[in-house]
Amino acid sequence: MRKFQFLKYSLLITVVLILTLNYFKTYRIYNLPFNLPNLLRASTIPPLGTFMSKQYKNSKQVLLHEKYHWYQYEKMGLMPFYYEYLTEYLKKGRFDHWMEKEAREATLKSK
Ligand SMILES: [Zn+2]
Repeated sequence: MRKFQFLKYSLLITVVLILTLNYFKTYRIYNLPFNLPNLLRASTIPPLGTFMSKQYKNSKQVLLHEKYHWYQYEKMGLMPFYYEYLTEYLKKGRFDHWMEKEAREATLKSK
């Protein structure tokens, strides 16, 4: 019973934390001390921020691409961002995903 209460409050604290971060939408960059799997250069996980692979931590191009995903999140909101990203990802994969295409185009234009 006590174990269940611990889980219940942990879940509650996590949800409150996510909703608070989602409310403020402060962009943060985390430079990881290791490389992400599957040759991922970085990953933007709203409402937390962008996680940069060790190898690409100084890449402006990667950062611009990831910042564009953050902009998409700000425009769409938390749940629509994940819904859209995941459903399209399952249908088309990463490369042909419209959100990835949009981020790639925005990165090219800013050069
Ligand atoms: Zn991307």
